Amino acid sequence: MTETEKVRLNDLTDEQRLLFYKETERKTRRFFWAAAVFVLLYQIYNICYTLYYTQFRLESRASRIYMCLYFTISLACIICMAFGAVWRKSKSCSSHIRLLRLYAAFGGILLLWSACLTLYDQRVSDNLSIYVTTAVYIGMLLYIHPRLSVPCYVLCQIILSSGFLWFHLAKDRDSYGNLVNSFGITMIGLFLSLLRFRTLRLEFLNRIALDQKNREILLQAEKLNYMANHDALTGVFNRNHLNEWSGRLFQTGREQTVAAFMIDIDFFKQYNDTFGHVAGDKCLKTVAKALDSPNPDGTLVRFGGEEFLFLLTPPSQESSDTDGFAKRLCQCIEERAIPSSVPGKSVTVSVGYSQKKIQNENEFWSLINEADEALYRAKAAGRNCAVRFQADPPAD
Ligand code: GH3
Ligand code: MG
Ligand code: MG
Repeated sequence: MTETEKVRLNDLTDEQRLLFYKETERKTRRFFWAAAVFVLLYQIYNICYTLYYTQFRLESRASRIYMCLYFTISLACIICMAFGAVWRKSKSCSSHIRLLRLYAAFGGILLLWSACLTLYDQRVSDNLSIYVTTAVYIGMLLYIHPRLSVPCYVLCQIILSSGFLWFHLAKDRDSYGNLVNSFGITMIGLFLSLLRFRTLRLEFLNRIALDQKNREILLQAEKLNYMANHDALTGVFNRNHLNEWSGRLFQTGREQTVAAFMIDIDFFKQYNDTFGHVAGDKCLKTVAKALDSPNPDGTLVRFGGEEFLFLLTPPSQESSDTDGFAKRLCQCIEERAIPSSVPGKSVTVSVGYSQKKIQNENEFWSLINEADEALYRAKAAGRNCAVRFQADPPAD
């Protein structure tokens, strides 16, 4: 027995169980309608034929009994079809369960009726065909819970066996063959019914298990993708993402204006030496969080240890916008007022930046070099400031 087989339908959540009934009802519906319409049309033909045959007089007892049987099953078909049509329109979530029960009840009624009709036919013929067809059709195509299918098939067999025995003893007819055949058909019908019941449940349970696995794989893939693109400490993007970002940016081959801001925490070694590395990590997180907020359209990357790179693809090429933004980067850290290793002073950052139109990855990395160079100048200029990259004037 496989793992899934051990999972019982009762172990499912309410939502999964409803989904199972919904799917099973959909799979069984067309067989119910096919059977109901066929049986009804066939009984209309039988009724018309009997009326015509008896010239509307129904004088014989047999014709009246046949008419009763035909009317009974026609009425059962009409009632079941009416309920089936009305309940299908219902929006209630339990309507699928109700419909499945209706199809099962219809199957049960049809089987009992076919046993009675077959038995009545035995007076004049040895024909078991009605019972054979019905028993096999219901077993193979309708979803019937063993709680209904077992008693129903057993009851039919008891009815048939009693009838055959009565014919055998009272009418002195050899009904042994019919007894054995009907028993065989009952067993086959019951076996098919149980098999269909089990197959539908197993198929569903397997699919649930597969869906669950797929969801887990998707979740793992999402997690891996996050880990591959984010820095574990600060949660901002990492160098891997930077490579992908630049690759995507130049995919079209179009020229793009890009502004790169290289940000470095001032005297961070001293901070670590004073407060320890754990506090240093906390500080890095706070700085990363603060840097991520000034422009939601930008991309913040942890470039190295305590160095961050902020990238913008500004729609405007106004250098005053870029200058203002670089200053804001410094300000947003200062405003956080993270106590630094120098008493009375807070943690600050220096920013070096550059902005230009670029078209490929080589130009992109040279832009980053320019920002890095500007950062050195910001450090040399006393830190806690932003410096724009300026190309060295050509030597005379
Ligand atoms: P400057 O103002 O010139 O940038 O001085 P600095 O001390 O910040 O520069 P330096 O490059 O000498 O020091 C960087 C320090 O950042 C050294 C290293 O211990 C620290 N650092 C790098 N990565 C991490 C990290 O993940 N966690 C912690 N706590 N410290 C880190
Ligand atoms: Mg530093
Ligand atoms: Mg550094």
